[in-house]
Amino acid sequence: MLAVLDALTATATLVLEEVPGRVAEALRHSLNFDQLNMWLFDEEHDILEPLMGPSSTAHQETTPSTLLLGQGFAGWVAENKAAMRVNDGFGDSHPGERSAEPAQSALIVPLMIGERVIGVLETTAAHRNAFTLSDERLLMTAARRLSVSIESALLYQETKRRLAEVTALYQLAQQMNTSLNIQEVLVSIVQSLKKTIKCRGCSIALLDPVDNVLEIRAAAGVEHKWEQDFKLRLGEGVAGRVALQGAPIYVPDVLDMNDFIFFDPNVRSLLTVPLTFQQRVIGTLTLDSDQPDAFSQNDERLLTIAATQAAIAIENARLYASLEQRAQNLAQAYAELKKADRLKDEIVQNISHELRTPLTFVKSYVELLLDENAGPLTDEQKSYLEIVIEKTTVVTRLVGDIMSLQQAEQPLYKREPLSLTAVANRAMQGCAATAHQLGLTLVSDFPDDLCLVSGDEDRLLQVFDNLLGNAIKFSPDGGKIGVTVKDAGNMVQASVSDQGIGIPQDEQSRIFERFYQINGSARRRFGGAGLGLAIVKRILEAHDGKVWVESQVGAGSTFYFTVPKYQTPQI
Ligand code: ADP
Repeated sequence: MLAVLDALTATATLVLEEVPGRVAEALRHSLNFDQLNMWLFDEEHDILEPLMGPSSTAHQETTPSTLLLGQGFAGWVAENKAAMRVNDGFGDSHPGERSAEPAQSALIVPLMIGERVIGVLETTAAHRNAFTLSDERLLMTAARRLSVSIESALLYQETKRRLAEVTALYQLAQQMNTSLNIQEVLVSIVQSLKKTIKCRGCSIALLDPVDNVLEIRAAAGVEHKWEQDFKLRLGEGVAGRVALQGAPIYVPDVLDMNDFIFFDPNVRSLLTVPLTFQQRVIGTLTLDSDQPDAFSQNDERLLTIAATQAAIAIENARLYASLEQRAQNLAQAYAELKKADRLKDEIVQNISHELRTPLTFVKSYVELLLDENAGPLTDEQKSYLEIVIEKTTVVTRLVGDIMSLQQAEQPLYKREPLSLTAVANRAMQGCAATAHQLGLTLVSDFPDDLCLVSGDEDRLLQVFDNLLGNAIKFSPDGGKIGVTVKDAGNMVQASVSDQGIGIPQDEQSRIFERFYQINGSARRRFGGAGLGLAIVKRILEAHDGKVWVESQVGAGSTFYFTVPKYQTPQI
């Protein structure tokens, strides 16, 4: 007995198929038998499956077959958890073997872990009275030892299978996530599943939520014509039922199913699981085979997990597609808006241009009339004509501003070296008379340096004009207006300050927008169209400079701007 136990330990293996051969070897010298058979008990189906290896025994003459619990000697042993010794010959009444020369003796013991039967071990001999009670004890003890190593081998197999499953799922997940194109995602799912699980075909049908019809969107191993024919309403056929109920269906043999809807006549068994995303069935995933009963519970489990991943990958791809569509729509809308904006600019430019010439005529003729070149005027007539002149001036300025804004948007063609202090001086001279009239003092603070910048003189003059114009407009009588220019690294910085009404903090960025004015009352009081600062900003941006304001309500404002310094060309 000890020798048998020792031999069993020495020959223990984790490869199940090797077990019968090893056991036969370990028993060879202690038990007189001709053949050794083993069955493993399938608890789920209550059957005994024969365990056969390539070299069960050298004398193997018969092959054990699958047995139901209770069927034959082995079935009886498994059911009763007790050993059985037959010594008086049993002819061919011994189910479990297909034998040419029936055995005459048999010793059969259960393989058990605690109270749980995991299989049956049988030795047979061709002659009668081959086994004694002590042989029975020996085999019982060997069986107990053997059960432990079989259990380990089973666990090992299960662990290996799980590892293979996890690896397969991991690879599947990686493949699914390599693309966001819905069709590519679907194809990669069916192809990698076909590689992972043994099957003939794998297909994905997606549910159209509007008409509730399932249609195949990707398949591997399925003929194209069957793919195209496949159309099932919710609740119809296997896939339709799976989609309706949200639960997997396994059909071991389609021939046993009365209402099976055939698309592909080669399909014998199939396994369909739902593709569910956030409790909503979006389609079905099907494996099929041309063999009956081709899929196991493990396949179903694996397919169900794969379906969860697949559903997420599909939804991601769909989401991406709809985002892409939206981005495209936005880009199109943006392009149309830009076109409309350009068109509007062109119209405004044309109208402004067309208005300018007649306005100049109106103004000149009214001036002629006012000078009484066409005859003497009454005071009343004169005052009316003065209103005409005043209003014409407002409109002329507005037209001028609109045209300047358009021009400011054009790229800068001129980039000449010019002195910003000189430009500032010109602008100050230009408004000196008006400032004087209003009792305003103009103060400048320029360095000796010329402060050379690279730019367009007329446009930079307009920047100063507009800033000075505002300073004058918003200053109290007798106020002081300061203009500075100074060196600031790569830039030249200039400023125009006043002691006027100031600008509230929250308005300071908005005043640079087109047509923006702080409030209606100021506008009525000071005139203007709200374009001056927009023009300033655009001109400076075209020069790669910038403009900003610092201001306190009631204390005054200072507008700063920078223009890049002129760089002497390198020779
Ligand atoms: P406009 O002066 O023709 O209205 P601008 O674009 O030059 O247009 O200025 C926009 C608005 O910014 C002005 O209406 C005014 O409310 C405010 N603003 C501009 N400059 C000053 C300033 N120096 N002091 C106070 N408010 C100013």
